[in-house]
Amino acid sequence: MTDTMKALAKTKPAEGLDLIEAPVPTPGPEDVLIKVKKTAVCGTDIHIWNWDEWSQKNVPVPMITGHEFSGEIVQIGKDVDRRLKVGQRVSAEGHVIDLNSEAARAGHFHLDPDTRGIGVNRQGAFAEYVVAPAFNVIELPDDVPYEIGAILDPFGNAVHTAQQFDLLGEDVLVTGAGPIGIMAAAVARHAGARTVVLTDINDFRLELAQKVAPGVRTVNTAKEDLHDVMKEQGLKVGFDVALEMSGSPIAFNQCVDTLIMGGGMALLGIPARPMETDWGKIILKALTIKGVYGREMFTTWRKMLGLLKAGLDLQPLITHKMAFTDYRQGFEAMKSGKSGKVVLDWTNAA
Ligand code: ZN
Repeated sequence: MTDTMKALAKTKPAEGLDLIEAPVPTPGPEDVLIKVKKTAVCGTDIHIWNWDEWSQKNVPVPMITGHEFSGEIVQIGKDVDRRLKVGQRVSAEGHVIDLNSEAARAGHFHLDPDTRGIGVNRQGAFAEYVVAPAFNVIELPDDVPYEIGAILDPFGNAVHTAQQFDLLGEDVLVTGAGPIGIMAAAVARHAGARTVVLTDINDFRLELAQKVAPGVRTVNTAKEDLHDVMKEQGLKVGFDVALEMSGSPIAFNQCVDTLIMGGGMALLGIPARPMETDWGKIILKALTIKGVYGREMFTTWRKMLGLLKAGLDLQPLITHKMAFTDYRQGFEAMKSGKSGKVVLDWTNAA
């Protein structure tokens, strides 16, 4: 093994990422070193690329970015238990937590307020090698390919959001057909929802959703009235559950308007700024609203792998596959809105 590796990094406080030569990181006693095989580009990476307000506040420079990845363990810290071994195919939870925090000690690992993110505020996975705490590492079953392993992080967001309410036999509205919204719609189908309606204003994404989540009724709300679709689907009053994945105030208010009395709403999409809503409606409809953050460690991961085993096929969601050296094209595809997941291959690094 060499001492240096190729990596994509934010090298200066400005737009873009640079391909650099960086030292191969050294795992601590409780860490493993992973040879990265595939990585996926996340919306968070686009924020970091664009160097928006959030990134400027949260991402130190220089920083190797990227947190959606899969790879093979090549080195193990001396205190790592027998669960993991060299040669194992893995992915990892990107939220690195303090196991001594109140939240962690209460068993709520994903609610640690001091979470640090791989590729956000500790060295990331857009590199030939990445270090992760053994605690965070997930073993990949043999039938889960590396490229699917690289998109488990966002799949986890979708599953975690869908976990918030009982979907069995219910009418479910999913607003926002980005990759996570599409996966949430697919999960709702697999969870036995009676109807799943997925809204967006981007036809490319709605068409993609038909491939990943067959049987979901997609609606371009700029062209079609949601109430007409509800009638068509036989909804007498409204949706039982809404999963808001877009962060759009318009979508949020559509959820409030179309939920039944006592309905439930899970929010994953983050509004760009404070938003207004008619709180009177929320109160008088007795709605339950839940914010969703990250994935549950590690129940969500178990459910994800279970859903894959049960036949949920994420393969069509990967619309772009390329060598990491072509990363600029990958980021462009993401920014165009005409992509599903973009996966970068790190196996042929020279
Ligand atoms: Zn992500």
